[in-house]
Amino acid sequence: MSASSTENRKASSNNTINTAQSNEHYPHLFEPLDLGFTTLKNRLVMGSMHTGLEDRFYNYGKLAAYFEERAKGGVAMMITGGISPNREGWLLPAGGTMNTKMDVINHQRVTRAVHKHDSKIIMQILHSGRYGYHPFIVSSSPIKSPITPFKPRKMTIKNIEQTVEDYARSAKLAKQAGYDGVEIMGSEGYLLNQFLSRHVNQRSDQYGGDINSRMKFAVDVVKAVRKAVGEDFIILFRLSVIDLVKDGNVMDEVITVAKALEEAGVTIMNTGIGWHEARVPTIVTSVPRAAFVDFTAEIKKHISIPMMAANRINMPETAEDIVARGQADMVQMARPFLADAHWVNKAKNGQADRINTCIACNQACLDHTFENKRSTCLVNPQACYETELVYKKTKNPQKVAVVGGGVAGMSAAHVAALRGHEVTLFEARDILGGQFNYAKVIPGKEEFFETIRYYINELEHLGVEIKLNTKVDKAMLEDGKFQHVVVATGVVPRSLEGKLEGADLPQVISYAELLSGEKSVGDTVAVIGAGGIGFDVSEYLTARHGQPLDELGPETLKDPSYRPEPQSVSEWREEWGVTNDTNYQSDGGLIRPEGIKPIRQVYLMQRTKGRLGSGLNKTSGWVHRAHIKSHGVIQVAGVQYEKITNEGIWVTNPQGQSQLLRVDSVVVCAGQESVVELMPNVGDAPDAQYHLIGGAKLAAELDAKRAIRDGAEVAASI
Ligand code: NAP
Ligand code: SF4
Repeated sequence: MSASSTENRKASSNNTINTAQSNEHYPHLFEPLDLGFTTLKNRLVMGSMHTGLEDRFYNYGKLAAYFEERAKGGVAMMITGGISPNREGWLLPAGGTMNTKMDVINHQRVTRAVHKHDSKIIMQILHSGRYGYHPFIVSSSPIKSPITPFKPRKMTIKNIEQTVEDYARSAKLAKQAGYDGVEIMGSEGYLLNQFLSRHVNQRSDQYGGDINSRMKFAVDVVKAVRKAVGEDFIILFRLSVIDLVKDGNVMDEVITVAKALEEAGVTIMNTGIGWHEARVPTIVTSVPRAAFVDFTAEIKKHISIPMMAANRINMPETAEDIVARGQADMVQMARPFLADAHWVNKAKNGQADRINTCIACNQACLDHTFENKRSTCLVNPQACYETELVYKKTKNPQKVAVVGGGVAGMSAAHVAALRGHEVTLFEARDILGGQFNYAKVIPGKEEFFETIRYYINELEHLGVEIKLNTKVDKAMLEDGKFQHVVVATGVVPRSLEGKLEGADLPQVISYAELLSGEKSVGDTVAVIGAGGIGFDVSEYLTARHGQPLDELGPETLKDPSYRPEPQSVSEWREEWGVTNDTNYQSDGGLIRPEGIKPIRQVYLMQRTKGRLGSGLNKTSGWVHRAHIKSHGVIQVAGVQYEKITNEGIWVTNPQGQSQLLRVDSVVVCAGQESVVELMPNVGDAPDAQYHLIGGAKLAAELDAKRAIRDGAEVAASI
């Protein structure tokens, strides 16, 4: 490779800004980045995210619409979900590939849609290695992963050489399909990472042993791809900057790999954090914002190509800070662009308070991927449904009443107003947000404040009339001459009074009373009900950070501008056994987690036998289970509640023995009941058309994802 072509790729990545043209809100984020042969218009990149649409050719129209919407939203560059270079590399059987002329034609729909809006699109080449969910999987060594049922076959040298060619062929075809570049996935525990680290690589040939041999495969891939695509094509490499697994690489090894990849022809180095099998959370909501950026910054010191930061970055001030401080040249976000396709333009125009923030819940994106369903977004049900859930301007504006200011009601009011209807939103309490107000105060769930903030700002902007402290009755709705009434009256916590002796004692409180700061508990607490809220309450009661809610008081918690202090990055790392040393020499950056002394004794109980939390979400449930375990919560399954007395709670244990758990307080988290009294009775003939949504429609599966979608779908149909 010529010296001048290497120089060509070395971008002006010194983070200085051209003040004459700089953006007044986020000057560093909106400084163009010159890559030598092309320029990125800003420093914001949509990271790769498997949506499920890329796996079937008949979904490429939907995939094109999904990317086009985000291109319109101002992002400089986007990276597709993983496309396999060959059959062995499929993530799922018959997953997306780039192998044939037909693939090129399908992908052209995507690239053409994006290029209409001055944005760039990169195809990610992902070989899943032993993470594939099919019997043809291969890896560096024949070691089964804990997250798939299949055992991989050890790749032969011929097999490796053929795979290098497959990468090069896919990249060449990607160029023909109109992509601006490719990203080679080398992190998160996928195939190239399985060679780079001793965690899986136990080979003794030229591809195993020390880091120089373990990185040979990845370096060969980059060289072959560069040769196939020429100099004027972007090659990103997603490098695992911290493996977070046993026998993972140390920082010196990661730096060695980064330098070699730069030399081999990479244009931009992207950040990967942790293997999918790591027992450290890397993207869930309780991971503090920008928790891993200093590892990216460490690599950046050693290479001269631009470096991209990633993981738990979701708002412009965090992204600007990273680039301004020189920790990275660019910022990649994936889920935040599902949550808000127009994130970049909003930031550019100083409207960060109107961004629909990704709350890192994983419920509609990653959880769907693992359930083999199309991804979407809990806070934005239009994501990946751009051609199906359309908010068309109405030609016939209607008078719409939405009763209930939880997320279902706010979603309905938002979409109805967006479409041009005249909307009044009634809320019985003095605060919008409904059940989200209980979630937002759980330590590690601070992001939930952002959703409430988003809706409040949008409703105000769209001129929705908001009537707080207004308990609506049927007569009011009739008098209001509404044409549509959306009943989003939600739920009330299930009370055990009358069902369990002693449930009316003063030390027995509901989760709502606890989490609104109205009531407090003692040093020993029994939690009745181990659903999502029982877990949340147990985490709140045992968390080391965060101010007690009864000390803050209900008024503070109602203030829409109030934000609790999240856990610090260093404390969070200590809890999870992640090094705070960016030049770590411990394998994979792991250290022994700090032992946690429980601040309160909590019993979390359910009547059902078996493991607690088995109904929690796939990609985040394990984090909640690990949290309560490390915080000393005693888990009790298969009990029958007998009575509550001033001594504590009497239960019959699974062996049939009566037992007293001595506790000061009991918090009831026994589910909810729907509030539906506003719905017309059989025989009523109201003038308005009534619609029932959210928890009011179905309390048994109270679920914010369904609530927000319900609201949007009903409002889209009016
Ligand atoms: P839930 O998941 O339905 O759990 C309620 C629990 O109460 C059940 O585990 C049930 O366990 C127990 N229960 C029900 N009736 C009872 C009774 N009469 N007496 C004693 N115990 C009773 O409801 P939730 O925890 O309130 O959560 C509501 C929704 O929010 C759920 O859809 C949940 O997924 C979601 N959420 C999720 C998360 C999360 O994933 N982290 C957090 C918060 C909320 P037994 O019948 O076994 O005793
Ligand atoms: Fe973010 Fe949750 Fe939406 Fe996924 S579903 S993009 S994590 S808000």
